[in-house]
Amino acid sequence: SAAAERQSHSIFGRVHVEPGRHLFPLAIERPQRYAQNRVALIGEAAHVVPPIGAQGLNLGLRDGIDLASVVSKAKAAGEDLGAPQVIARYGAARRSDILSRTFVIDVANRSLLSDLVPMQSLRAVGMHLIGGFGPLRRLAMREGLAPSWRNARKAG
Ligand SMILES: Cc1cc2nc3c(=O)[nH]c(=O)nc-3n(C[C@H](O)[C@H](O)[C@H](O)COP(=O)(O)OP(=O)(O)OC[C@H]3O[C@@H](n4cnc5c(N)ncnc54)[C@H](O)[C@@H]3O)c2cc1C
Repeated sequence: SAAAERQSHSIFGRVHVEPGRHLFPLAIERPQRYAQNRVALIGEAAHVVPPIGAQGLNLGLRDGIDLASVVSKAKAAGEDLGAPQVIARYGAARRSDILSRTFVIDVANRSLLSDLVPMQSLRAVGMHLIGGFGPLRRLAMREGLAPSWRNARKAG
Protein backbone atom coordinates (compact mmCIF):
# COMPACT_ATOMS: atom_id res chain seq x y z
CA SER A 1 0.00 0.00 0.00
CA ALA A 2 2.80 2.40 0.93
CA ALA A 3 4.62 1.66 -2.34
CA ALA A 4 1.47 2.29 -4.42
CA GLU A 5 0.80 5.52 -2.55
CA ARG A 6 4.40 6.69 -3.05
CA GLN A 7 4.28 5.83 -6.76
CA SER A 8 1.01 7.78 -7.23
CA HIS A 9 2.52 10.77 -5.33
CA SER A 10 -0.44 10.53 -2.92
CA ILE A 11 -2.71 12.23 -5.47
CA PHE A 12 -5.41 9.64 -4.63
CA GLY A 13 -4.90 10.16 -0.88
CA ARG A 14 -4.32 7.19 1.44
CA VAL A 15 -3.99 4.00 -0.65
CA HIS A 16 -5.03 0.63 0.70
CA VAL A 17 -4.25 -2.35 -1.52
CA GLU A 18 -6.89 -5.07 -1.32
CA PRO A 19 -5.45 -8.55 -0.83
CA GLY A 20 -5.63 -11.09 -3.65
CA ARG A 21 -5.12 -10.80 -7.37
CA HIS A 22 -7.58 -9.50 -9.92
CA LEU A 23 -7.39 -10.37 -13.58
CA PHE A 24 -8.59 -8.06 -16.34
CA PRO A 25 -8.55 -9.88 -19.67
CA LEU A 26 -7.34 -7.78 -22.61
CA ALA A 27 -10.50 -7.81 -24.64
CA ILE A 28 -12.16 -5.83 -27.38
CA GLU A 29 -15.78 -4.95 -26.74
CA ARG A 30 -18.15 -2.92 -28.84
CA PRO A 31 -21.85 -2.18 -28.51
CA GLN A 32 -24.15 -3.00 -31.44
CA ARG A 33 -25.17 0.66 -31.59
CA TYR A 34 -23.47 3.82 -30.31
CA ALA A 35 -26.69 5.70 -29.76
CA GLN A 36 -30.30 4.78 -29.14
CA ASN A 37 -33.30 5.80 -26.98
CA ARG A 38 -31.90 9.30 -26.33
CA VAL A 39 -28.63 7.83 -25.03
CA ALA A 40 -25.25 8.31 -26.74
CA LEU A 41 -22.32 6.15 -25.65
CA ILE A 42 -18.87 7.72 -25.37
CA GLY A 43 -15.49 6.63 -24.02
CA GLU A 44 -15.13 3.19 -22.50
CA ALA A 45 -18.91 2.66 -22.82
CA ALA A 46 -18.57 2.88 -26.61
CA HIS A 47 -15.36 0.88 -27.07
CA VAL A 48 -13.14 -1.25 -24.87
CA VAL A 49 -9.74 -1.86 -26.46
CA PRO A 50 -6.50 -3.34 -25.11
CA PRO A 51 -4.05 -0.59 -24.04
CA ILE A 52 -1.93 -0.99 -27.18
CA GLY A 53 -0.95 2.02 -29.23
CA ALA A 54 -2.44 4.40 -26.64
CA GLN A 55 -5.77 4.68 -28.47
CA GLY A 56 -8.52 4.34 -25.85
CA LEU A 57 -8.53 7.88 -24.49
CA ASN A 58 -7.93 9.41 -27.92
CA LEU A 59 -10.96 7.57 -29.30
CA GLY A 60 -12.99 8.74 -26.31
CA LEU A 61 -11.99 12.36 -26.89
CA ARG A 62 -13.08 12.10 -30.53
CA ASP A 63 -16.42 10.66 -29.33
CA GLY A 64 -16.87 13.85 -27.31
CA ILE A 65 -15.85 16.09 -30.22
CA ASP A 66 -18.28 14.37 -32.62
CA LEU A 67 -21.12 14.34 -30.10
CA ALA A 68 -20.63 18.05 -29.39
CA SER A 69 -20.65 18.76 -33.14
CA VAL A 70 -23.84 16.74 -33.76
CA VAL A 71 -25.61 18.31 -30.77
CA SER A 72 -24.60 21.89 -31.57
CA LYS A 73 -25.72 21.57 -35.21
CA ALA A 74 -29.03 20.05 -34.09
CA LYS A 75 -29.50 22.85 -31.54
CA ALA A 76 -28.79 25.50 -34.18
CA ALA A 77 -31.38 23.84 -36.42
CA GLY A 78 -33.93 23.81 -33.58
CA GLU A 79 -34.12 20.00 -33.48
CA ASP A 80 -34.88 17.84 -30.44
CA LEU A 81 -31.35 16.88 -29.30
CA GLY A 82 -32.32 13.33 -28.32
CA ALA A 83 -34.47 12.63 -31.38
CA PRO A 84 -33.67 9.31 -33.13
CA GLN A 85 -32.45 11.02 -36.31
CA VAL A 86 -30.13 13.32 -34.30
CA ILE A 87 -28.44 10.64 -32.22
CA ALA A 88 -28.29 8.37 -35.29
CA ARG A 89 -25.98 11.02 -36.81
CA TYR A 90 -23.65 10.57 -33.85
CA GLY A 91 -23.61 6.79 -34.36
CA ALA A 92 -22.88 7.24 -38.05
CA ALA A 93 -20.11 9.77 -37.29
CA ARG A 94 -18.33 7.42 -34.88
CA ARG A 95 -18.70 4.07 -36.65
CA SER A 96 -15.78 4.14 -39.11
CA ASP A 97 -13.32 5.71 -36.64
CA ILE A 98 -14.11 3.16 -33.91
CA LEU A 99 -14.22 0.17 -36.25
CA SER A 100 -10.97 1.02 -38.05
CA ARG A 101 -9.07 1.71 -34.80
CA THR A 102 -10.42 -1.43 -33.18
CA PHE A 103 -9.33 -3.46 -36.20
CA VAL A 104 -5.76 -2.08 -36.10
CA ILE A 105 -5.49 -2.60 -32.34
CA ASP A 106 -6.81 -6.14 -32.72
CA VAL A 107 -4.16 -6.96 -35.35
CA ALA A 108 -1.42 -5.39 -33.17
CA ASN A 109 -2.65 -7.30 -30.13
CA ARG A 110 -2.74 -10.62 -32.02
CA SER A 111 0.77 -10.00 -33.38
CA LEU A 112 1.98 -9.49 -29.79
CA LEU A 113 0.36 -12.69 -28.55
CA SER A 114 1.33 -14.81 -31.55
CA ASP A 115 4.10 -17.42 -31.24
CA LEU A 116 4.48 -17.58 -35.02
CA VAL A 117 8.02 -16.53 -35.95
CA PRO A 118 7.00 -14.81 -39.26
CA MET A 119 4.44 -12.74 -37.36
CA GLN A 120 6.98 -11.77 -34.69
CA SER A 121 9.59 -10.95 -37.35
CA LEU A 122 7.12 -8.78 -39.27
CA ARG A 123 6.22 -6.95 -36.09
CA ALA A 124 9.90 -6.48 -35.14
CA VAL A 125 10.71 -5.08 -38.61
CA GLY A 126 7.71 -2.73 -38.42
CA MET A 127 8.69 -1.45 -34.97
CA HIS A 128 12.31 -1.05 -36.07
CA LEU A 129 11.27 0.99 -39.13
CA ILE A 130 8.94 3.20 -37.09
CA GLY A 131 11.63 3.69 -34.43
CA GLY A 132 14.46 4.47 -36.85
CA PHE A 133 12.81 6.34 -39.69
CA GLY A 134 11.68 9.85 -38.67
CA PRO A 135 8.97 10.53 -41.29
CA LEU A 136 7.40 7.11 -40.64
CA ARG A 137 7.52 7.71 -36.88
CA ARG A 138 5.87 11.12 -37.25
CA LEU A 139 3.22 9.63 -39.55
CA ALA A 140 2.49 6.91 -36.97
CA MET A 141 2.27 9.52 -34.20
CA ARG A 142 -0.04 11.76 -36.26
CA GLU A 143 -2.29 8.86 -37.23
CA GLY A 144 -2.27 7.72 -33.60
CA LEU A 145 -3.66 11.06 -32.48
CA ALA A 146 -6.36 11.21 -35.15
CA PRO A 147 -6.85 9.48 -38.49
CA SER A 148 -5.95 11.79 -41.39
CA TRP A 149 -9.17 10.93 -43.27
CA ARG A 150 -11.09 12.64 -40.46
CA ASN A 151 -9.37 15.96 -41.11
CA ALA A 152 -9.80 15.48 -44.87
CA ARG A 153 -13.53 14.81 -44.37
CA LYS A 154 -13.90 17.93 -42.20
CA ALA A 155 -12.04 20.08 -44.72
CA GLY A 156 -14.16 18.74 -47.58
C1 LIG B 1 -3.45 -0.20 -18.47
C2 LIG B 1 -4.13 0.81 -19.37
C3 LIG B 1 -3.34 1.73 -20.06
C4 LIG B 1 -3.95 2.65 -20.92
N1 LIG B 1 -3.15 3.51 -21.59
C5 LIG B 1 -3.71 4.42 -22.42
C6 LIG B 1 -2.89 5.36 -23.15
O1 LIG B 1 -1.67 5.38 -23.02
N2 LIG B 1 -3.52 6.23 -23.98
C7 LIG B 1 -4.88 6.24 -24.15
O2 LIG B 1 -5.38 7.05 -24.95
N3 LIG B 1 -5.67 5.38 -23.47
C8 LIG B 1 -5.12 4.47 -22.61
N4 LIG B 1 -5.93 3.61 -21.92
C9 LIG B 1 -7.38 3.68 -22.11
C10 LIG B 1 -7.98 4.80 -21.25
O3 LIG B 1 -7.60 4.61 -19.90
C11 LIG B 1 -9.51 4.70 -21.37
O4 LIG B 1 -9.85 4.75 -22.75
C12 LIG B 1 -10.17 5.87 -20.65
O5 LIG B 1 -9.80 5.88 -19.28
C13 LIG B 1 -11.68 5.72 -20.76
O6 LIG B 1 -12.29 6.79 -20.06
P1 LIG B 1 -13.77 6.70 -19.57
O7 LIG B 1 -14.00 7.95 -18.79
O8 LIG B 1 -14.65 6.41 -20.72
O9 LIG B 1 -13.85 5.41 -18.64
P2 LIG B 1 -13.10 5.10 -17.27
O10 LIG B 1 -11.76 5.78 -17.20
O11 LIG B 1 -13.17 3.61 -17.11
O12 LIG B 1 -14.01 5.81 -16.19
C14 LIG B 1 -15.25 5.25 -15.80
C15 LIG B 1 -15.46 5.65 -14.36
O13 LIG B 1 -16.79 5.30 -13.97
C16 LIG B 1 -16.75 4.70 -12.70
N5 LIG B 1 -17.93 3.82 -12.62
C17 LIG B 1 -18.14 2.63 -13.19
N6 LIG B 1 -19.34 2.15 -12.87
C18 LIG B 1 -19.92 3.07 -12.09
C19 LIG B 1 -21.17 3.15 -11.43
N7 LIG B 1 -22.10 2.19 -11.55
N8 LIG B 1 -21.43 4.24 -10.68
C20 LIG B 1 -20.52 5.25 -10.56
N9 LIG B 1 -19.31 5.23 -11.16
C21 LIG B 1 -19.02 4.14 -11.91
C22 LIG B 1 -15.44 3.94 -12.66
O14 LIG B 1 -15.03 3.74 -11.33
C23 LIG B 1 -14.52 4.93 -13.39
O15 LIG B 1 -13.96 5.88 -12.53
C24 LIG B 1 -5.35 2.67 -21.07
C25 LIG B 1 -6.15 1.75 -20.36
C26 LIG B 1 -5.54 0.83 -19.52
C27 LIG B 1 -6.41 -0.14 -18.74
